[in-house]
Amino acid sequence: MFNRSRRNLARWFTLSMGSILVIFAAVVYYQEVEDELEVVDRLLYKKTRAIAANIDYRYEQGQQRIDLDNVPWLGNSPLPVDTELVYARWYNSQKQIVRFFGAPPPPQLTSEVGFHTLKDTDDLAAQTRFQPWLRQVTLAVEKNGTVIGYLQIATSLAAAQNSLSQLRLFLALAVPITIFIIALAGWFLGGLAMQPIRQAYFQLQRFTADASHELRTPLAAILSNAQVGLLSADPAGQRLRLEKIVEVAKSMSNLVSNLLLLARQQGTIAPEALQEIDLTQLLQALARRQIEHKADTLNFTTDFPSYPVKVVGDASLIQQAVMNLLDNAFKYTPSGGKIQLRLTTQSRWAVIEVEDSGIGIPAEDLPHVFERFYRVDTERARKNGGFGLGLAIAQQLVEAHGGQISVSSTYTQGSTFTIKLPL
Ligand code: ADP
Repeated sequence: MFNRSRRNLARWFTLSMGSILVIFAAVVYYQEVEDELEVVDRLLYKKTRAIAANIDYRYEQGQQRIDLDNVPWLGNSPLPVDTELVYARWYNSQKQIVRFFGAPPPPQLTSEVGFHTLKDTDDLAAQTRFQPWLRQVTLAVEKNGTVIGYLQIATSLAAAQNSLSQLRLFLALAVPITIFIIALAGWFLGGLAMQPIRQAYFQLQRFTADASHELRTPLAAILSNAQVGLLSADPAGQRLRLEKIVEVAKSMSNLVSNLLLLARQQGTIAPEALQEIDLTQLLQALARRQIEHKADTLNFTTDFPSYPVKVVGDASLIQQAVMNLLDNAFKYTPSGGKIQLRLTTQSRWAVIEVEDSGIGIPAEDLPHVFERFYRVDTERARKNGGFGLGLAIAQQLVEAHGGQISVSSTYTQGSTFTIKLPL
């Protein structure tokens, strides 16, 4: 699935970039053709002007006299050194040929006035010493406002064609090579784009598998207790089974609400839930509740500053994160142990610490304790009602507030969990 998406991404990337490249190459080629023609046209026009300027025109005794003797290419003077012209022709005002140089002309002027590109016809090729393409200009020469004749000259487009065919060759090589490079880049970029999606997908898959696995165990317990209860005729036995079912259902409900919390809090907090919170007050209330409920066999102490420590966030979520740490401290500290909840400030951070003298976490498990469903000792955690979600939830909640959570622990000696929230 991922490879197919990656291939599709690469294909579309190559297709779109390749099309842009081909259009760009076509525009460059078209522009080059235009430029080459413009250079040739300018040269042709300059030459026609020079030739026309040498035409000697007189009007004597009511008669036109046109003398072409001194006109380059058409006159008696020797040919100019540069013989770029394939032909030069002079037609009179009735468009009949009068004089020419180069390829024999048609007796009557057939071309329109202006610039024309002449294609390679057999006829023309034979006439023009096999010049494949010609650029021809036909100019109406006027004196005193009347047309006295037509000047037509042509030059070969071989040089322009040469440079164009070089450009064509270059484009024919460069475009496919660039498209190939684009395809490689597309494949690479497709891979990069798929990476977070792939990670998220596998994470979700693992999470779903873990969640279903966790739900299966209490479900099986409920089912077996219900079946045994149904078979038993003894009301006391049935009551025992029902009590077991209630207990397991409670833990299941706890798991489901934790899963929902994880799913709902995807790294963000709704802006309307944000408020200014005094952590000193919040933790004092939390500690009071903890002492009332659990601190009978453990030495639970607190250390709070005498001033308010203000952060911005969702009070219930911050409370939930600290509660998860405190719950763990109480769960994993044997009777007689010590637990301390501290609040301090460090430059721009509010620092909440939960320290216990409990069983500690082995060094190899430390990097994993914040992962979802990770339990150091599965049996022990299950007995304590833990699903391995408490720390993952705490981490997600703290990070959603722009904070950090960390742990330091010595196996069998105790652990300290630290939450840092931006002040
Ligand atoms: P659980 O619900 O199983 O406690 P948590 O995500 O809260 O899941 O914790 C993950 C694991 O980290 C627990 O299974 C436990 O082994 C270990 N752990 C967490 N807190 C403590 C602690 N204060 N002392 C020792 N081990 C702890």
